[in-house]
Amino acid sequence: MSVTELENLDTIVSLAKARGFIYQSSEIYGGLGAVYDYGPLGTELKRNIRDFWWTEMTRRHDNIVGLDAAILMHPKVWEASGHVEGFNDPMIDDKQSNKRYRADMLVEGHIARLRGKGKAEEADELQQLLDTAGSRNGLCEDLHQIIMDHEIRAPESGAFEWTDVRQFNLMFKTQFGATSSGDDGDVVYLRPETAQGIFVNFKNVMDTARQQVPFGIAQVGKAFRNEVVARQFIFRMREFEQMEMQYFVEPGTDEESYDTWLNKRLEWHKALGIRQHKLRIHPHPEDKLAHYAADAADIQYEYPIGWQEVEGIHNRTDFDLSQHHEYSGKKLEYYDQKKQKRYIPYVIETSIGLDRTVMMALCDAYREEEVDGDTRTVLKLNPEIAPTEVGIFPLIKKDKLQDLAHKIEEDLRGDYKVLYDESGSIGKRYRRQDEAGTPFCITVDFDGVESEGEDTVTIRYRDDMTQDRVPVSRLREVISDQTKSWKPE
Ligand code: ATP
Repeated sequence: MSVTELENLDTIVSLAKARGFIYQSSEIYGGLGAVYDYGPLGTELKRNIRDFWWTEMTRRHDNIVGLDAAILMHPKVWEASGHVEGFNDPMIDDKQSNKRYRADMLVEGHIARLRGKGKAEEADELQQLLDTAGSRNGLCEDLHQIIMDHEIRAPESGAFEWTDVRQFNLMFKTQFGATSSGDDGDVVYLRPETAQGIFVNFKNVMDTARQQVPFGIAQVGKAFRNEVVARQFIFRMREFEQMEMQYFVEPGTDEESYDTWLNKRLEWHKALGIRQHKLRIHPHPEDKLAHYAADAADIQYEYPIGWQEVEGIHNRTDFDLSQHHEYSGKKLEYYDQKKQKRYIPYVIETSIGLDRTVMMALCDAYREEEVDGDTRTVLKLNPEIAPTEVGIFPLIKKDKLQDLAHKIEEDLRGDYKVLYDESGSIGKRYRRQDEAGTPFCITVDFDGVESEGEDTVTIRYRDDMTQDRVPVSRLREVISDQTKSWKPE
């Protein structure tokens, strides 16, 4: 059987739309750039992945507790965190098309094109210039110089009519209160990351949840960034969801904890069902670390758009708590009773984008297979995260078969996400569920209800399309065994 993996992001975008995983926001009005809505299947998939993360973090670690902080926070938070001053991307506009680009990504794109044309030496030189941008003059000036010197054209219009490079703050601003005077006193931001909600609640949680260092706070929530480049489906969105965990440790134990979390998080991605050879750890070189970070690495996945970050693991030192300590005037220290020692804990952060994880799961599961001269599209998702777990079909619309199928549906409904379907040929029904990633389909036929003794049904496995005949009373056991033993191909 010939099998094709996903080669093009557009294939997933089309499938996601056609099957009700993901739609563009406000589509009937022409859509809103880089904002997406999750449809019925997408909502289930996203929720299952979120639960998979939450269970791992908070249920399997007795020293990690949850938090659900508000999206709006005191504006001082973002001064203390450095976001007002420094959460910027360098951008440049094409005067001909009025399209905006991230200047560094424009250069990266040019480097990739040079490599594609076999001009490795030129590409290396340019990479070197990009890596050291900001060291000659300012970052904006250096990037502008590179674009001019190498005559990098706008990818869409082909024009070479650029504005200057300017820094662009990625935070969305909004007005606070009913009577806005419009002055800056009323400005609040939509949070660009969930992490700060955790830092400002550090003391609250420590005092109320009776946790002792080392302990972690986990949170899942929306974050907003006014991204300059937003053309890669749900990879780079303006509104997205993060799953973050901040682990507070004693200074001096931070390096070991960082290594532990980096490994744990990579294992989580494998447990989610992502194929190992599509995952890698990309450590940040020392000269590229954020000013507050002692160590950082990305967990990357090989998307159809190349190797890209899904998750970041950072040793944030005591930067955030120290900043909030200073800006708020409130002590954010920990007193270790046993060691009789007071300190500001270091923080190991694991920060993963839920939407990027959904995209990774979809891309990794996608296959096209030639079956009897036909192409079947199938999502080989881990059964634990599949939006629908069990499809239930009467072979044909006859009372006897429908009744048993409904009985099985009722029985399984409490524990599994099930779908009853009696329309179309059985082959079509299987294909529909293959595209939705449903791992198990149960078919009720005459052989099963008319034989002597207990009713039997066939259960068909999505990945290899084999079928077993099983007594109805064994269905749960078979589903559970198959789910536990599932491995990605
Ligand atoms: P990138 O370099 O790709 O912009 P980042 O390093 O700014 O990402 P972080 O600030 O470390 O990202 O955020 C943690 C995680 O949040 C990322 O690993 C990613 O999965 C997710 N994330 C960040 N920005 C976006 C976005 N615009 N859309 C979707 N997910 C995002």
